[in-house]
Amino acid sequence: MGEMHSGYRNRQPWRHRAWPVPPWLMLAAAVFVACLLGIFSRPIGSLATVWPANALLLGLLLRFEKMSTPVGWVAAFAAYLAADLLTGASLGKALILNSANMAGVATGYLVCSRLPRDVRQLRHPSSMLYLALAAVAGSAAAGLVGTVANPLLFNSSSLSGLFFWFSAELVNYITILPVVLAFPHRAHFSGSLAKIGSLPKPEKLAPAVSLLLSCIAAVLVGGGGAIAFPVPALLWCAVSYSVFATSVLTLFFSLWTIFAISAVLSPTPVEATNEITLISIRMGVGLICLAPVMLASATTAHNELVLRLRHLASYDALTGIANRRAFREQAGLILQQSRQHCVTLLMDLDHFKNVNDTLGHAAGDAVLVASAQRIRDSLRTDDALGRLGGEEFAALLSDCTVSEAMEIAENIRRAVQEEPIHLDNGQAIHVTLSIGLAVASEETQDFDLLLRQADEALYEAKKNGRNRIALAA
Ligand code: GH3
Ligand code: MG
Ligand code: MG
Repeated sequence: MGEMHSGYRNRQPWRHRAWPVPPWLMLAAAVFVACLLGIFSRPIGSLATVWPANALLLGLLLRFEKMSTPVGWVAAFAAYLAADLLTGASLGKALILNSANMAGVATGYLVCSRLPRDVRQLRHPSSMLYLALAAVAGSAAAGLVGTVANPLLFNSSSLSGLFFWFSAELVNYITILPVVLAFPHRAHFSGSLAKIGSLPKPEKLAPAVSLLLSCIAAVLVGGGGAIAFPVPALLWCAVSYSVFATSVLTLFFSLWTIFAISAVLSPTPVEATNEITLISIRMGVGLICLAPVMLASATTAHNELVLRLRHLASYDALTGIANRRAFREQAGLILQQSRQHCVTLLMDLDHFKNVNDTLGHAAGDAVLVASAQRIRDSLRTDDALGRLGGEEFAALLSDCTVSEAMEIAENIRRAVQEEPIHLDNGQAIHVTLSIGLAVASEETQDFDLLLRQADEALYEAKKNGRNRIALAA
């Protein structure tokens, strides 16, 4: 077994890359397409209208700093206007409607752009709370423009404009923004695509299937409580999948629910339906959607922390190889699985104290790092290696004959001795090490005994002049 791979990686999803087209153009194109989608969904009825443009724009501006330039903002506004004008709206109407859109996005941006990066990336337990706050602020700004726009454009009251626009925007922001913010960056995305080739295990699909079934059950059973039927499945998805997958499934739930409810309401013309009911449904769906995404980001944050702590608890901070505890755990397992044909090497740098005493502790550290690297490079990939403490390292070789182990030990000894270790200041240090070698047998029931035998052999090697290998009796 080689070095344990903890799976913890330092993620850099916001790295800058070259853009194939100017960022402002991509932003405008995305807004334009999202507006057309919204405009073409209007005939379905006002509850079911999907308006993804604002949340998409806000998400893109937050994710890609290069898009958030004055040119980017103007291009986005022009894209809104173009979509409305090309689909027959008057200039006045287009200007008023899109001022509401821009007011909402700008307010949401003011709140979100101040948030730390990991919060915006939905990798913090409180991410969704902050985004909900931004969604409320953005929706309130759109609602305020609605108080002016509603009497002017739709012959309706200011108050109804406020609440109607507020509730519509809230659902859009809460359900669409997480999808944009958690969308995997390019490297992760190609990794995910590669995984699609191999079919996921059935148990991995269970949460998504249960969501689909509970959405169907909600429609079949109906009634006021049906809206909550998919909640347990959504929470199951949240603890099983990534934040991105959870946000996509949550968006699916919100669209499904809103479409299903508007299908039920459709016998009554939507305009005649009690406005409070529509607002209440939207708010209810939006607030339910907060929970799974919040849980998914809290779970992700927790899992990343556990991985980081596990890494810290298992690896030596100086040399990067397994520490004593993790090595003993690995070695114990290897020994259990293949008691025969296991050999352990105990390695100790010779007169290492002199390095510290004459060249300083930092030079000693550099020697430890370089020696660990040379030992690692001389072992086979599946051999376990650990730093037992100080300048003492141990390896466990499985499926190995004594002569093979002697050969590996000799390679290690030569790798350390032959090339001096070069410090940053140009100084070259010559070091050697001694190795004690012990072979596992029927009697060697536990690793500690094997290690004790190797230690006795190491003592012999030291006694006989160092820079040599000794085999336990
Ligand atoms: P021998 O050949 O008998 O093994 O002699 P030695 O000097 O290598 O052995 P000794 O056990 O006397 O000295 C080990 C030294 O390793 C003492 C300690 O200060 C030093 N040491 C332990 N851990 C570290 C470390 O992380 N960094 C540095 N620079 N020195 C360390
Ligand atoms: Mg030593
Ligand atoms: Mg020692």
